[in-house]
Amino acid sequence: MADAATVQETPAAPDASVQNIVRTKNVTKIYRMGDEEVYALNGVTVEIKQGEYISIMGPSGSGKSTLFNMVGGLDKPSTGSVYIDEVDVAQLDAYELAWLRCRKIGYIFQSFNLIPVMTALENVTLPMTFAGLTTDEARDKGCELLELVGLGERVLHKPFQLSGGQQQRVAIARAMANDPAILLADEPTGNLDLSTGREIIELMREMNEKSGVTIISATHDMKMLSVSDRIIWIRDGQIAKIERREDLDIEVGSIDGEETGGVSGGQVSHTEQSLRGETPEE
Ligand code: ADP
Ligand code: MG
Repeated sequence: MADAATVQETPAAPDASVQNIVRTKNVTKIYRMGDEEVYALNGVTVEIKQGEYISIMGPSGSGKSTLFNMVGGLDKPSTGSVYIDEVDVAQLDAYELAWLRCRKIGYIFQSFNLIPVMTALENVTLPMTFAGLTTDEARDKGCELLELVGLGERVLHKPFQLSGGQQQRVAIARAMANDPAILLADEPTGNLDLSTGREIIELMREMNEKSGVTIISATHDMKMLSVSDRIIWIRDGQIAKIERREDLDIEVGSIDGEETGGVSGGQVSHTEQSLRGETPEE
């Protein structure tokens, strides 16, 4: 009973004893378009714990990719701070930032972003070479990773010789190349059909469970709900709500086992409202 009471008081609070791997404090990002200011992010404060699987969900234009870029050290906030492993990213020099991007974070994109003239193996080993592994070490580790993502038989294929789902598997292997603490994914299933998308989501969950890598995925794919530990709903550059999967299960009923992997059809759910840009009800 004590547990239930605690959960009620802090519905979205993660385990306080686990270290924050990513933390943002009042982050804004303002784009100036002529005379107009666009607040792509407008005061985002969030804490993400090591080992969590987080989905950043929201309608198109809500600021997901902008937040992805901030958390990944790819762009700087207009105001506010981003901490990775409790280090303020703004305090890093160019060398330290490059180290962070190479070693600490793996990136996955909607359009895979593989290098077309390179084989799957070469794509995966490239970041290892940057990190200083020998060619032999990189090849062995690259083969292991490609095996792990189910492409052991395709190591010498080039991207154009692979399906979309296979290319995204290569991209996941590449993202894991230097044993990152964080896997950042921006719409990783956006270019994939339903069942391939589900396979990729399951693979990401497997990586999270096997290696403990923290996953932060910007998405509007409802299939992602069923594997996420917490869902950060974002709207107009602000956090509308943070939910844990357990709480979501209670609100929308079963989210597993359906073709959409999402919310059962029929009535308009809170989830669907959120993706349309309406504020979910408290
Ligand atoms: P999402 O990934 O959720 O679709 P984005 O983070 O890409 O949203 O964009 C958030 C808002 O910021 C949108 O209104 C978008 O038009 C605006 N925006 C994003 N990038 C730029 C940019 N480089 N210049 C101006 N406006 C931008
Ligand atoms: Mg986006």
